[in-house]
Amino acid sequence: MLYHRSSQLFAEAEKVIPGGVNSPVRAFKAVGGTPIFVKSAKGAYLYDEDGNRLIDYINSWGPMILGHAYEPVVQAVIEKAKLGTSFGMPTELETQIAALAVSMVPNIDKIRFVNSGTEACMSAVRLARGFTKRDKIIKFAGCYHGHSDSFLIQAGSGAITFGSPNSPGVTAGTAKDTLLAQYNDLENVATLIEANKNEIAAIIVEPVAGNMGCIPPNKGFLEGLRQLCTDNGILLIFDEVMTGFRLAAGGVQELFNIAADIVCFGKVIGGGLPVGAFAARAEIMNYLSPIGPVYQAGTLSGNPLAMAAGLAMLQALDSDRAIFQRLEEKTAYLAAGIDKVLKANNVTFTINSIGSMISVHFDAAPVVDFHTAAKGDNETFKKFFHGLLQEGIYIAPSAYETWFITDALTYEDLDFTIRAIDKVSKTF
Ligand SMILES: *Cc1c(COP(=O)(O)O)cnc(C)c1O
Repeated sequence: MLYHRSSQLFAEAEKVIPGGVNSPVRAFKAVGGTPIFVKSAKGAYLYDEDGNRLIDYINSWGPMILGHAYEPVVQAVIEKAKLGTSFGMPTELETQIAALAVSMVPNIDKIRFVNSGTEACMSAVRLARGFTKRDKIIKFAGCYHGHSDSFLIQAGSGAITFGSPNSPGVTAGTAKDTLLAQYNDLENVATLIEANKNEIAAIIVEPVAGNMGCIPPNKGFLEGLRQLCTDNGILLIFDEVMTGFRLAAGGVQELFNIAADIVCFGKVIGGGLPVGAFAARAEIMNYLSPIGPVYQAGTLSGNPLAMAAGLAMLQALDSDRAIFQRLEEKTAYLAAGIDKVLKANNVTFTINSIGSMISVHFDAAPVVDFHTAAKGDNETFKKFFHGLLQEGIYIAPSAYETWFITDALTYEDLDFTIRAIDKVSKTF
């Protein structure tokens, strides 16, 4: 397959957009080459500017769980657009999607809508700090919670000391309030809490990690976090921006029957429009302005087009709960197929998967945290990525990303993918 026009368009984009992209994950920095420019998408397929059709395993990094241009979502947006695209005033639609979300997700009474997952996580942490009257938070290495300052943190000099910024522009003052723990390591978390007694407002975690490949929690990890939080007056924030409305109608809270104090959403909840949300029991949510002291706002928050798309998406998922089972079966089928061909071709690998999330790591050891995820062989991944691209299959241009299975994928698509992986892995 040729990608000439994409390369030309990228060269034009680079002149006026930093790096040619509006979000760095879209660039091909980790794999080399230039990004694919999309013209349209439908169901499981992307159609690019060179006229290629690609099977899509990224799906806008998560939102398109029912496939691209899902008809009820598209219709909802078109109909709403005719009635005006933004008012900065309340609409009934906001209550409808809020009520549906609250009915689908356990342990939440109220939800506030924002415009991105970043905003949701940032606001959730502010709310937790306001509610507990404490400043510090614990996050896990390799978990991504958007690009706000408090989360762009790497390990500091000592394991029990504060974090340090991992981007210029994040101040040392901000970084000192974020403590970094290892995923799936409860002892590490307990040590941090002990060393910072009564100072920690919240632990924020991807309850199934998806931003260092797919890493499900070890047995007991989430239960342990819940207990540590309860024992120490800390709020447990589940960042379900990726997993919410994906791994189950009620997200990971439902899947593993564990109650978080605050839950963050994004991606699926917006049906492909820019939406994020955070939710909690009333006692916590009532701490938000205008009824509480913690300030949070947004001119375009609860935007009618975004809410219409989100509502149509949630209605589709709510009315067909079998979808989560279907997705899990497709993922398991793909995982088994990949496992078989990679073994046959003597490739060193590990496959992680849960529900509709899957990742292939080119290392033999179990991938359980950022450290083990980073061990994957990136040279093999590059060959894998570009090989699949030539076969008309689009996976994320980074070894640290999860693939997302959509309901639109057919078993023929999955078989085609497995055959392509067989062919590509013979060239490693
Ligand atoms: C994507 C993601 C975010 C950030 O959401 P944006 O809409 O990109 O700001 C936050 N947390 C998790 C777990 C994510 O996967």
